[in-house]
Amino acid sequence: MVANGDAEHKSLADYASAKHNGKSTETKYPVSDQNYGFNALGCSDEEWKTRVDLAAAFRLCHRYGFNEGINNHLTAEVPGQKDRFLVFPFGLLWNEVTASNLLLVDMDGNVIRGNGHPEATAFWIHSRLHQLRPNTGAVFHTHQPEISSLACLEGFRLPMIHQNSLRFYNDIAYDTYNGLVLDDSEGKKLAEAIGDKRILIHASHGIMVCTETVAEAFDYMYYLEQAARVTVKALSTGQKLKLVDDKVAKEFKAILETGVQKEYARLHLEALKRDLLRGPDRDFIM
Ligand SMILES: [Zn+2]
Repeated sequence: MVANGDAEHKSLADYASAKHNGKSTETKYPVSDQNYGFNALGCSDEEWKTRVDLAAAFRLCHRYGFNEGINNHLTAEVPGQKDRFLVFPFGLLWNEVTASNLLLVDMDGNVIRGNGHPEATAFWIHSRLHQLRPNTGAVFHTHQPEISSLACLEGFRLPMIHQNSLRFYNDIAYDTYNGLVLDDSEGKKLAEAIGDKRILIHASHGIMVCTETVAEAFDYMYYLEQAARVTVKALSTGQKLKLVDDKVAKEFKAILETGVQKEYARLHLEALKRDLLRGPDRDFIM
């Protein structure tokens, strides 16, 4: 596929058409199991791969400045195991998280594998979102600065002003902030608020991203911050925002939903894992 300009739209349309007609859309990009290293825990391949992807997401959030100190949380289920999820041990910086030091916990908070314990709000909120929201394999929560600053505006709704904004067309729920809650009530409330959307913008707080895979959650998080950055800059001019035509926005999102988004997200994370393996964060895979 070509990644820029008009050719991008042509290839997206071609991809969607091929999917629709049942033709192969196999990628020719170099994606392989080399990005998963050695299974140091001797756990199942599925668990190890999820651990590697999640550890990579922690390092990438750290790289991009999405996290804050030892707070915020990213969690993921091992595919097919709905009664447990991976979470990082409370107290680690995000550039200390590795595939093998992530905790596997059950829905009552018991640690099945690993040393340490999850932070209380991480457990209560994420466990309930994993349990209650359908098709949820990954739950990411950050206070990433661009979208969080917009969440502090009265009645904020992400305006459809840029191609990156269109990725979130009719895919964002909004909810009000109720303070710090250390039981399962907030997780249930957030699951109800997000419904079948993938993004929840929590006023005066941050975001929740709920998707099937770690790759998708990171991709949504990344592009939401990009869309927010453009929005903040556009708003800063004080001039009137130019909205994309609703029909165009709807069609753009419909193409992404044919499988384009999921495949792009997978390739995005694989590319970034290769990049991590070339730099100081290469130990994420340990
Ligand atoms: Zn938070």
